[in-house]
Amino acid sequence: ELEGTPMRHFNKSTKLDNVLYDVRGPVVDEAARMEQSGMHVLKLNIGNPAPFGFRTPDEVVYDMSRQLSDTEGYSASKGLFSARKAIMQYAQLKNLPNVGIEDIYTGNGVSELINLSLSALLDNGDEVLVPSPDYPLWTACVNLAGGTAVHYVCDEESEWYPDIDDMRSKITDRTVAIVLINPNNPTGALYPKEVLQQIVDLAREHQLMIFSDEIYDRLVMDGLQHVSIASMAPDLFCVTFSGLSKSHMIAGYRIGWMVLSGNKSIAKDYIEGINMLTNMRICSNVPAQSIVQTALGGHQSVNDYIVPGGRLYEQREYIYNALNSIPGVTAVKPKAAFYIFPKLDVKKFNITDDEQFALDLLHDKRILITRGGGFNWHEPDHFRIVYLPRIEVLKDATEKLTDFLSCYRQ
Ligand code: PLP
Repeated sequence: ELEGTPMRHFNKSTKLDNVLYDVRGPVVDEAARMEQSGMHVLKLNIGNPAPFGFRTPDEVVYDMSRQLSDTEGYSASKGLFSARKAIMQYAQLKNLPNVGIEDIYTGNGVSELINLSLSALLDNGDEVLVPSPDYPLWTACVNLAGGTAVHYVCDEESEWYPDIDDMRSKITDRTVAIVLINPNNPTGALYPKEVLQQIVDLAREHQLMIFSDEIYDRLVMDGLQHVSIASMAPDLFCVTFSGLSKSHMIAGYRIGWMVLSGNKSIAKDYIEGINMLTNMRICSNVPAQSIVQTALGGHQSVNDYIVPGGRLYEQREYIYNALNSIPGVTAVKPKAAFYIFPKLDVKKFNITDDEQFALDLLHDKRILITRGGGFNWHEPDHFRIVYLPRIEVLKDATEKLTDFLSCYRQ
C-alpha cells in the first residue's frame, strides 16, 4: 500500500445484485472441494448428457470433422445459410407462422441467445413474466438486462402447468413479455394445447410478446406431441428457442438458435436491436453450425432413448418410482427432458433452508442435487435430480437418499 492511500478494491457490478445461477453455485463449489480432497461425489445436478455415456451421433462428429477446414473463418452474423435453412424448415414443420431465413439466428447455445434477446429488449424496470420454477438463466438475464423478472407459479397439483390466474394477476403496465419453458426444466412438464391457448389469449389481451424456450422439444416421452406456442399465435410476436445440446448430446459444441415468428411488423425496432447485438458478437461457433443440417435431417437417434426400453425412458420410470417410495418425498412424473423436481415434506424433516438441505446431503452421502431455490422456487421444499445416470447409479443414489432422510432432523 502506498502511504496514506487506501488499497483500491474491485467490486462486481451492482447489475449482478439480483442475479442467481445456483446450478453452478456454492453447493457445487463445496462438492468440488470434496472431490479435490479425494472423495467421490455422485453428481445429479447438471443436465450434461455426454459424461453419462450419451454419445453424440457418429454422423454428427464425422460431418463436423469433414467441415473443419471449411469453417475456419467467421460466418455471417446470424449463421451459415445451410444451418439457418435447416432450422427454418424445422420451424416450418412445427407450424411456426411467417418464418423466413432472415428470422433465424444461431448462437453459442440457447444461453447466448437468451441473454442477447433480453438485452436487446429491456429498459430498466420493464417486467417479464418468468415461470417459477424456471431454468434460472431466464430470471438472471432479465435482471442483468435491467428488467424485473416477475414469477408466475407453475402448479404441482396440475402436472406443473402454469397457473393462468396467477400469471394474469402478475401483469402490470410494465409487463412486456411472457417466458415459457416447454418442455420444462426443472419439472419435466409438457404443456398441452389447452394450456398454451390460455397463455396466447392472455398475451393477446395484454399485447405481450412470447419467449418460448423449447430446447427439450425432441425429448418428449409417452407418445406425446410437443406443440410450439408460436404455431398458435400468428398475430403475436414470438421468439422460439431450441438447439442441439440436449437432443444431440453435444452440449459442449455450443449450438442453439432462435426463430422470430408471427407479427414481426410490431417488432421492427426490437429486431434492429437484436441485429445490432448479433453483429457485435460477430457470429456463433462455425464448426458447430456446420452440422445443424445433418443433425436435424434424417434418422433421429435420440428417439431410441425416449421409448420403452430406451435409456431415458427407463431411467425416468426408475427415478419416479424410487422417489415416490421414499417416505416424505413425492414427485410428479416428468413427461419430457431428463429432470425430476421432487417435493419434500418440510414439516416431517423440519427443513427451512434448502441450501442447508443440499449441503447436508452432500456432506453425509456425497450426493449433489440442486436446491429448488436455484430455480427461483420460493419455498424450501423442492430439489432437482438429473436422471441422466444409469439405473444402477440412480439406485445407489435413491438408496442413500432414503437412508439419509430416514433420520434427517427427526
Ligand atoms: N434452456 C433450458 C431450459 C435449459 O435447460 C438449458 C440448459 O440446461 C439451456 C436453455 C441452455 O442450453 P444451451 O446448451 O443451448 O446453452
